[in-house]
Amino acid sequence: MSTEQLDAVIVGAGFGGMGAAIQLNRLGYDKLAIIDREDDLGGTWHVNHYPGLTVDVPSTTYSYWFEPNPYWSRLYAPGVELKRYAEHVADKYDLRRYLRLNTTVDGARWDEDTKHWVITLAGGETLTAQFLIAATGYLCQPRTPDIPGIDTFEGRVLHAARWDDSYSMRGRRAAVIGTGSTGVQLIPELAKETSELTVYQRTPIWVMPKLDFGFAPAVQRAFDRAPLTQRVLRRSTDNFTDLLVLIAMWKYRYFKPVSRVVGYIAALHRFVSVRDKNTRRALKPNYTYGCKRPTLSNTYYRTFNQPDVHLETAGIERIEPDGVVGRDGTKRVIDTLVLATGFDVWNSNLPAIEVIGRDGRNLGKWWRENKFQAYEGLSVPAFPNFLSLSSPYAWVGMSWFDTVECQMRHMNRLFTELQSRGANTFEVTEQANARFLDRMTDLLEDSVFVLGSCAGSRSYWFNESGEAPLFRPTSIRSAVREQDRFPLTDYAIA
Ligand code: NAP
Repeated sequence: MSTEQLDAVIVGAGFGGMGAAIQLNRLGYDKLAIIDREDDLGGTWHVNHYPGLTVDVPSTTYSYWFEPNPYWSRLYAPGVELKRYAEHVADKYDLRRYLRLNTTVDGARWDEDTKHWVITLAGGETLTAQFLIAATGYLCQPRTPDIPGIDTFEGRVLHAARWDDSYSMRGRRAAVIGTGSTGVQLIPELAKETSELTVYQRTPIWVMPKLDFGFAPAVQRAFDRAPLTQRVLRRSTDNFTDLLVLIAMWKYRYFKPVSRVVGYIAALHRFVSVRDKNTRRALKPNYTYGCKRPTLSNTYYRTFNQPDVHLETAGIERIEPDGVVGRDGTKRVIDTLVLATGFDVWNSNLPAIEVIGRDGRNLGKWWRENKFQAYEGLSVPAFPNFLSLSSPYAWVGMSWFDTVECQMRHMNRLFTELQSRGANTFEVTEQANARFLDRMTDLLEDSVFVLGSCAGSRSYWFNESGEAPLFRPTSIRSAVREQDRFPLTDYAIA
């Protein structure tokens, strides 16, 4: 048993955990541990390296505001650049000294006597810390579909989130299950290599054209030497994504015609990209834009024009040792099965580790027995000195960095107050939490989640009760403002 006493334990070494560590450093905390079960930092950008991985939010927006990267190769940078960016940030802000990699956190318990968190690692070691920050992300538990016979398949199974770079797809007869954001990026790349590729689509996804371009070396140098130039571009990509999400999702009640225009653009995109009428029809989403994560691609739809690429939409009956049998009886013989089947957001996640607060309150159980809720998407009553970055109502806009930087601001205001009062603990009050939940629930009444036709979307943004509590249904701008101004009386500080 370790007796090491830390200021904070941060679980997760992705951009959320790194941002929290940078913020704690700025506030003067230096005894930190950033724990991650993976063998390197970068979170999702370390774990995911499937072919075709790119960021699908403009890179100018998909980065920390305080750490611009002038050297993105394109507007939508490949995943490997995001991983390099994570390494650069870790080096520049000297975060590696806090890292404990290949280490799994089993759970954490608040000790009311010592006013500390006791964090248990797999293997039995424990750490104690004044603060606990869960930065485990929403998309960290890869989901394997429960399809009859999947265990009997004798070929190779690859999950997109556990890609084996040494496995060549050249000449393979492969099938892909899943047409979410991952499938849309992966399928065109696989189709370049395979001799035959069958795509099993259950729910069509919205695919919009991607306005992408490279940054010439001269432009990168200009961004480096005159950062204001990149700031100007960032402002426009920030405002564009903020506005798009606001109009298509949170203020859907007032902007339904805009949603219709989006539908026309997507239909035109299918029309010019897909030659076969029936395939085009099969790729058409039957739910409102914004119910589910939409994607951007100029290559996905065109892939279905290849004679060796097949789209199956009848559903999967079973998997046999040498192939996949559809509900319409069609069997595709394959040697490689690719799972682009996403992540378990609601069962083994939220929270990703067991967290026991004051009076034995179990966070996961409490969220499931009550509603999913967290004040400002960060703190929960009866969980003192605890911040959960991937909480209900935390997700602001489309770029994860917007969420992270909002949370850093919140930490700044909260911890500065704690320090100025010479206090040791904070805990959000039940009233403030209830008020915030009511406000978010009311705001959702104007959203596409409530007013759109989302029933057929099978969107992981909804939980089993039909609620969609992951996002904060406000503009990024208002979320940012609130983190600098929330009433400090919303916390009991002692
Ligand atoms: P996803 O959006 O959850 O998509 C999973 C896909 O697998 C869906 O098409 C789903 O069909 C299908 N599927 C799951 N189980 C199935 C089953 N039993 N039978 C048939 N089909 C099944 O997962 P994802 O594509 O990995 O994306 C997850 C999130 O990661 C995205 O929303 C995005 O936030 C993020 N992401 C970001 C980037 C980026 O920025 N570059 C790239 C990739 C992913 P149904 O729709 O019918 O359930």
